[in-house]
Amino acid sequence: MQQALTLLQETFGYESFRAPQAEVIDTVVRGGDALLLMSTGGGKSLCYQIPAMIRPGCGIVVSPLIALMQDQVAALKQLGIKASFLNSTLTPNEIYDIEASLRRGELDLLYVAPERLTQPRTLALLKSCAISLFAIDEAHCVSQWGHDFRVDYLALNLLHEEFPSVPRIALTATADARTREEIVKNLALNTAKEFVVGFDRPNIQYRITEKHNPRQQLLNFIRQHHADDAGIVYCLSRKKVEATADWLCQQGFNALPYHAGLSASVRQHNQRRFLRDEQIIIVATIAFGMGIDRSDIRFVCHYEMPGSVEAYYQETGRAGRDGQAANAWMVYGFQDVTKLRQMLDSAQGDEQHKRVEQIKLNAMLGFCELTTCRRHALLAYFDEASPEHCSNCDTCLNPVETWDGTEAAQKALSVIYRTDQRFGVSHLVDVLLGKASDKIKQFNHDQLPLYGIGQELSAQAWQSVFRQLVAAGHAVADPERFGGLALTEKCRPLLKGEDVIQFRKDPVQKTGKKLSKAPLPEDIDVVVWEALRAHRRELAEEQGVPPYVIFHDSTLQAMAEQMPTSLDEFGDLPGVGERKLEKYGDGFLRVLRQV
Ligand code: ADP
Ligand code: ZN
Repeated sequence: MQQALTLLQETFGYESFRAPQAEVIDTVVRGGDALLLMSTGGGKSLCYQIPAMIRPGCGIVVSPLIALMQDQVAALKQLGIKASFLNSTLTPNEIYDIEASLRRGELDLLYVAPERLTQPRTLALLKSCAISLFAIDEAHCVSQWGHDFRVDYLALNLLHEEFPSVPRIALTATADARTREEIVKNLALNTAKEFVVGFDRPNIQYRITEKHNPRQQLLNFIRQHHADDAGIVYCLSRKKVEATADWLCQQGFNALPYHAGLSASVRQHNQRRFLRDEQIIIVATIAFGMGIDRSDIRFVCHYEMPGSVEAYYQETGRAGRDGQAANAWMVYGFQDVTKLRQMLDSAQGDEQHKRVEQIKLNAMLGFCELTTCRRHALLAYFDEASPEHCSNCDTCLNPVETWDGTEAAQKALSVIYRTDQRFGVSHLVDVLLGKASDKIKQFNHDQLPLYGIGQELSAQAWQSVFRQLVAAGHAVADPERFGGLALTEKCRPLLKGEDVIQFRKDPVQKTGKKLSKAPLPEDIDVVVWEALRAHRRELAEEQGVPPYVIFHDSTLQAMAEQMPTSLDEFGDLPGVGERKLEKYGDGFLRVLRQV
């Protein structure tokens, strides 16, 4: 372990291991298998990078996203680590060179996409070389229960058979108990030591609001809190992505779209811009984000509700990997649920899979409708105990009022029943309010005894009632009836007056309340900070890498706080290892002397 600590300090420039890095590294160095579950930003990469450097041979890292391998490898090379990648972006000559250096034993780490790794040709190549370990990143992709299932990942169980003596480490940031079981089963990790580190991301503030004028809500949020930051806005459809990105550009923001319908070159270009620019917003479908290595993403917005709590956790988790304050903000409405149901229904997959997705969707809606701490519920979803209040989510910061909704629920459920369980929320609300729409006339719904009996509540309040009934499982949006609401067994006692229900009173939007923003610590001089950033930007541009690959913000902050005057002092900063000291020490010291 002394060797591991020396590498941590000299190569990576960090003082000590975080829990449980040392133990994981020890397990793998000794040749054991490991499964590591650790929240994003926790420091998973070191857990295979250091063992790969200590054990003889090259460490093979399976990573699903080809587009990101280049940056991952660039960051390692900055540290003086002999790393490379094999993927379809390389020319045959480049591949030949990399394979040759692998055979000569010159590499510490090699990143490979799963589909390439499991080709017979690659397996034969690896068998002719010394392999120190296999690291399977984003291991939840192996689970069909999980949210990012990849068929290619299933083939990875052959590693166990083909290389029985090579240790394997599987890593992921999200996996509920069931996904975890599938990882173990599908990768044959039965004897692996499991390390589970909490899911909590204390620096992320969660905020979820009812949608009423989404564009304006989004604009207010970004303008007020993140006008100069990098962030992601998630939408469900390509069309919405395009429209939202265009609109943000018209409002003067630097916004780019990203979805699977764009050509590979446009996607790659936009992704690269996102990794490099300081103020930039990427508007994306879920196709964007896995493995995104930018650590200073300050906000993630959900412009439409994601389909599961896992997806929400994973997507919001891309904010604030550097540990500084970040915001996860969402607006949602019943139209999102209907849209997701339709997408689910038209997607391929067997019935059982669709049922699972339906359960997950309802759990997500329930999460939006919470009256209690969001973080507590999020952690409970992953079976983790936590305090009842976190003080850093909307429901903790502005406690939500509740009201006795029993009578309203009975009216709402009755109107679903009396209109034959096939109409969507907006029509049902019209009936309750006694509106005179064409549809109401067409179906003679103005003849119903229930017509107009809900005037005590506004349309918005009724929409909230229907959402909460669905979230609580009293009704479902039935795709076979075009998303119309139908009753479930569970609603009976409520309808008969044998049960009561409390509803959330959607808070009136207070504007101007400060959300968390990553502040520059007070003792940092803005002039120094900007000079350091400018120098970092220059170096990054020269080498064609993102700025954080040169130094993370936290290292720059330490520089501005401590104002080192010698290489010795510079080498003590967190994130400055031997290689970076040699490469960048003089340049940054010069900048510090000049400001
Ligand atoms: P993950 O893959 O778990 O999301 P990373 O491996 O990218 O996280 O690490 C997140 C950040 O934490 C990186 O900037 C990394 O350099 C830093 N880090 C990791 N381990 C340590 C440590 N022991 N001490 C200080 N910083 C660390
Ligand atoms: Zn809370």
